Amino acid sequence: MLCFMSVHDDLSRRHFGKGLRDSTQVACVQKNRDIAQAKACGSGLLMTLAELQILIERMYSEKDRQRGTAATFLWFCEEVGELAAALREGTHEQKSSEFADVLAWLVTLANVNDVDLTAAIEAKYGQGCPGCGNIVCTCNAKP
Ligand SMILES: [Zn+2]
Repeated sequence: MLCFMSVHDDLSRRHFGKGLRDSTQVACVQKNRDIAQAKACGSGLLMTLAELQILIERMYSEKDRQRGTAATFLWFCEEVGELAAALREGTHEQKSSEFADVLAWLVTLANVNDVDLTAAIEAKYGQGCPGCGNIVCTCNAKP
């Protein structure tokens, strides 16, 4: 399923197919995508990590780039604090909401710093645990 705008060209190619190699074409596709598609992804259909990154790019990254990484990181930390409070004494709904906030702020920090999270996760965890190399981690496991 196609959603939202691209974070950068590599991500765009993944989402918009081999026919759209050039960023101008991708920009046109991006322009024509509307928020209804964004809502469709959040209303029962699966959203990939890349689609989340694209959604957050569209919603917040321009503002967050202007604010800068350091100030944006402080917002992220504030949300982590709110998650800590929710984990300690919140309802399931409050915990869910705070997880969403923390993830959104983490994703916007990645966008502001031009990090493709899908590529980063694939590179670091795609072949198993970075420590032991196994899909089910056996680090520190006793024989
Ligand atoms: Zn491991």
